[in-house]
Amino acid sequence: MGEDHWFSEGQKEQDPWDLDEKSQGSNGQSPGKGFQGPRRFWLKVEEEKRVMFLDGVPFRFWEHNWKDDEGRWSEFEPCHVRNSLGKECVLDGIKAVSMYHVGMFSIIDFSQFQGTKHIFQFDRRLYPAKMGGTKKPGTLQKLKRLKDKYGQLAGCVFDIYRTGAMSPKVGDEFTLVERVDPKDFPKYIEKMRQEFNGRPSEEHLKFHPWEPIDYRKVIKPRSLHELKGLLGIVSSGSQEEPEEPVSDFEY
Ligand SMILES: [Zn+2]
Repeated sequence: MGEDHWFSEGQKEQDPWDLDEKSQGSNGQSPGKGFQGPRRFWLKVEEEKRVMFLDGVPFRFWEHNWKDDEGRWSEFEPCHVRNSLGKECVLDGIKAVSMYHVGMFSIIDFSQFQGTKHIFQFDRRLYPAKMGGTKKPGTLQKLKRLKDKYGQLAGCVFDIYRTGAMSPKVGDEFTLVERVDPKDFPKYIEKMRQEFNGRPSEEHLKFHPWEPIDYRKVIKPRSLHELKGLLGIVSSGSQEEPEEPVSDFEY
């Protein structure tokens, strides 16, 4: 577990843009803290942000999501069974835990955000695009169409808008602003500096480089021991009895 290549097991030969149900791997059923690395991009209702995609191929896996002890949906964990990380997934079958197939992208967020000390801008973020199903296609299927339309996603700058509370948190309206050849990113960064008061700085680029995130490094499956520590929160937040006992699993 936790090996460098955990995600790619069983998907080595697969086209990441093949969104047929069969391509989701494993048995195809439909999903926190502990996550360290770039933050996830999200939008408030009726908010719009400008972003650039840094990569054009989704990093795909099955993910669980559940509420933290403050009631926010901020806990994430790759499904150990469906991603072939282990024989057991202690999060399966718990009603308060959702599970879905997701494709991750790396983006630069061009929008400005006023923090307590300074303005954030050009931060690199994870962009989680859910696959969804035939009746309710997810953002990943939308991005595939945009990729087909524009040739590639890497270097595409979009204004992304979230239309409503039931719309995906990552937005549901994409307006293409411009396309930049990834080879020309250095020139483009220079152009941004002229427009945005010296941002992004060289220092900022060290922490938020304009290159795809190394997903295998930042999306690290937790050990069963760590998950066990979190399960008290999960089961107490559940409306219903968990379908299977969660306290007596083996390491
Ligand atoms: Zn699972």
